[in-house]
Amino acid sequence: MSTQAPHLTATQERSLRDIFPGDSLLLTPEQTLVFATDAGRRMGTPLAVVRPTTEAQVVELLRLAQTERLPVYARGRASNQVGACVPDRPGIVVSLLHMNRILDIADDDFVAEVEPGVVTSDLQRAVEARGLFYPPDPASIEISTIGGNVATCAGGMRALKYGVTREYVLGLTAVLPGGKVLRTGGRCHKNVVGLDLTRLFVGSEGTLGIVTRITLKLLPLPQATATLLAGFDSMEAAMHGVRRIFRAGILPVALEFLSPEVLDCVARRQTPPWPDSVRGALLIRLDGSRESLPLEVRRMHDALHTAGDAADGTPGNEPPVWSAHGVGHDEEEPLWAMRRGISPSSYLVRPNKIGEDIAVPRGRLLDALTGIRAIAQAHDLPILTYGHVGDGNIHVNIMYDGADPSETTRADAATVEVMRLVRSMDGTLSGEHGVGMAKKEFLHLQLSPLETELMRQVKHAFDPLGIMNPDKAY
Ligand SMILES: Cc1cc2nc3c(=O)[nH]c(=O)nc-3n(C[C@H](O)[C@H](O)[C@H](O)COP(=O)(O)OP(=O)(O)OC[C@H]3O[C@@H](n4cnc5c(N)ncnc54)[C@H](O)[C@@H]3O)c2cc1C
Repeated sequence: MSTQAPHLTATQERSLRDIFPGDSLLLTPEQTLVFATDAGRRMGTPLAVVRPTTEAQVVELLRLAQTERLPVYARGRASNQVGACVPDRPGIVVSLLHMNRILDIADDDFVAEVEPGVVTSDLQRAVEARGLFYPPDPASIEISTIGGNVATCAGGMRALKYGVTREYVLGLTAVLPGGKVLRTGGRCHKNVVGLDLTRLFVGSEGTLGIVTRITLKLLPLPQATATLLAGFDSMEAAMHGVRRIFRAGILPVALEFLSPEVLDCVARRQTPPWPDSVRGALLIRLDGSRESLPLEVRRMHDALHTAGDAADGTPGNEPPVWSAHGVGHDEEEPLWAMRRGISPSSYLVRPNKIGEDIAVPRGRLLDALTGIRAIAQAHDLPILTYGHVGDGNIHVNIMYDGADPSETTRADAATVEVMRLVRSMDGTLSGEHGVGMAKKEFLHLQLSPLETELMRQVKHAFDPLGIMNPDKAY
């Protein structure tokens, strides 16, 4: 049996050098190590890393890869947390970060054309400078790319009102294994001709081809925003608050929940503004015109303080016990900084985390949170729940000490129970992070054999030899 590490043949290496001159080809382990992993922290084996600057190079690469049957892994900023771009079978990693031009911002069409390596926040700033708005705002906005957002169908806080990345991709160009170039969609905001291949690529986790150009829909930039942080005396009261907001006919831009465990966790890192009586909170953003926004803020206040109707099963009036608000970026920012502080603070609870991002039908939110709390107690582990409750999407961080075998085993068992709980409520294993490698073992809980088989057949139509990000996602 050969003990030699996987490597490229001399011919394969020469061919890659022809396509990728100079430092656009990385071959030594020192150069490629960082491309072996992503934010999910699994490790793979890059045989080489290539950094194209043109679509023509991607075409040449995918011709070569098909002929040589080399696995190919597209990669943006590797901020996904599920191992979605890890080269777990030795292969070629394609970093799209040098294809990072904003090609066009068309004010009249309300469209932007970009290369995949554009960092999400760079695009947002560029369009906002022209009074336009690209709403998808994953919390990784400063460290993720539009190409990665498209391939994962990234969500974010504003998804409640404005939807996820899927809603904004009007068309794209993708290079398929073998080197064919596929152009889908266009600049029209509506298009119902044929099967929607654009949307098929959105969320496909790099398994169908490499996206080299993206056409995005833009909106007019809202004039004004306001944020309210409402503290309740229990998790249940906070969830009843969510129900009252929707029943009042209000659709906030963002509606985030912080569980009591998360509030305690944030308080470990900074002195919180809320009193001890706060045991659950909602962080709410509204937007609108300068004239309409104060009215919306007033309506939100009234909704949170209005008694429910016990006759139709609506829980009673449990108004916030504390609140703070801000109008405009400078006043709102400290409130959102608190939200962003959750992830770093969580590591003060335990050094390791299994981070899930399940979603349940909105009406089952309280059941899901209560069930997860019971799982935490049963396994004697801290589980932090927070996130986009407006969408029914909850981040579930199962905290444990990886140096403690008992905690590690319990964390794994708790993960399985959370997944089963979610499925028992007709929920989904992932609201926004995707499947990658991390959730493949749970797929059978959600996808029927027929769905899985059809997905495999679709992949086969694009990638008959199975070289694009093999063994991931579905
Ligand atoms: C702190 C933090 C906060 C986060 N918050 C959110 C959040 O709020 N919402 C959310 O949805 N996600 C969030 N994420 C997850 C992650 O940021 C998103 O999944 C993001 O879209 C990944 O972008 P990326 O450029 O890093 O892609 P990568 O991680 O590099 O790749 C992700 C997937 O896209 C594929 N891919 C990348 N580029 C291309 C391309 N050009 N063509 C084809 N396939 C490609 C890869 O093969 C891989 O399967 C967060 C992550 C972190 C670390």
